[in-house]
Amino acid sequence: MPMATLRGFRGSWGSGLGFLLLDDVDGNRKEVPCDNGHTVRSLDAMTGGRFIAEGHTVDSSALDGLEVVYVMDDMGLTLGGMGLREDAEENGAEVCEKCDGRGCDECSQLGMVAPKHE
Ligand SMILES: [Zn+2]
Repeated sequence: MPMATLRGFRGSWGSGLGFLLLDDVDGNRKEVPCDNGHTVRSLDAMTGGRFIAEGHTVDSSALDGLEVVYVMDDMGLTLGGMGLREDAEENGAEVCEKCDGRGCDECSQLGMVAPKHE
């Protein structure tokens, strides 16, 4: 699973659609479409409850700089899953040695995490 650095989140409770802003390991900014509610809840869990703020708002500054690994859905259109890179490795995910944090076929298919990009 490719590694990325979170930079923010845009979403609206009404539309059901959100966008995760992240930088890939080469520093390219990406906007990944995602399920708003589900993603907001995972981001809140990943930040220890610092993401969801008062009155149905979110605090994107809580995300800035978090290192994550993520997968796209089967069709490659929206976010399929995401977790803190650190947690994935602690939870026993094997580290792929073939890519430099960019993600490759092997680590996507086998659920391995990309190596830490230096
Ligand atoms: Zn790989």
